[in-house]
Amino acid sequence: MEKIKIAIQKSGRLSEKSLDLLSECGINVSNGNRRLKTEARNFPLEILFLRDDDIPQYVEQGVADIGILGQNEMWEKEKDVTEIERLGFGSCRLSLAIPKDEVYTGLAYFGGKRIATSYPRILKKFFREKEIDVKIEELGGSVEIATGIGLADAIFDIVSTGSTLIMNGLKEAEAIVKSEATLIGNKNLSAAKTELLERLLFRIKAYKNGRGKKYVLLNAPNEVIPDIVRLLPGMRSPSILPLADGRWSSIHSVINGDDFWEIIDELKHAGAEGILVIPIEKMIL
Ligand code: ATP
Ligand code: ZN
Repeated sequence: MEKIKIAIQKSGRLSEKSLDLLSECGINVSNGNRRLKTEARNFPLEILFLRDDDIPQYVEQGVADIGILGQNEMWEKEKDVTEIERLGFGSCRLSLAIPKDEVYTGLAYFGGKRIATSYPRILKKFFREKEIDVKIEELGGSVEIATGIGLADAIFDIVSTGSTLIMNGLKEAEAIVKSEATLIGNKNLSAAKTELLERLLFRIKAYKNGRGKKYVLLNAPNEVIPDIVRLLPGMRSPSILPLADGRWSSIHSVINGDDFWEIIDELKHAGAEGILVIPIEKMIL
């Protein structure tokens, strides 16, 4: 039977989370010793472990059919691949940073300046659109030290918390673009592989939809049901089941985990009792 080949990062920030995602999709990968490739035990999937920088090229060439990587790498490499689905982890931004004692006056500040980065294409495109001339110094890594050693006047790099910038005497001047992990695919997949991709994508979406959601069950006197239904949006609308005591009903719904405490308080005020909040593992819309 034909298998679909997925490339994920060998070791780095996206590795564990990529494997976790597969595991949430019910796909068991045994890779104790991190070989170059391995097979899933219960899905026709082969996993290739690669450097994230190489994933766009391998997917373009069809060495891998699909791959998980940061959008930043996908944009920088400009390979001919399809972005299939954003995955909601590995969030970061690409920002311009300058020495902390500099007075930042807006984008024009960068005119004629030397900017060190591992993302020269993204940066070049950005300043070309702004019609500002800059000198780009391409570095493979450790971009954050470039100003300290006199190689550049500013840097353009990945920021998540900003602590690396502070440690290197820098401050964030402009956040240019946000990035997260994404699933990319080859543009000429066979029919059989496309079908496998659809099956995988179905599971990924079920996981994404369920993430952060809670299932709420509660009891309420019949006369307050309209008030409670107004507080509980639900997928279509809440389910209402009669209790043995005909004056009461049980109401079931799905809410966002973020809204949790606020809604619970309002539900209690409206007269709800015996409120149960249960995590949701998967949700098929
Ligand atoms: P590789 O050896 O595979 O080339 P790398 O050093 O290029 O690894 P990592 O530092 O592991 O890459 O980061 C992988 C991806 O994680 C980044 O391209 C980015 O999309 C995302 N990411 C999220 N937060 C951060 C962060 N704080 N710093 C760097 N990358 C981050
Ligand atoms: Zn890399």
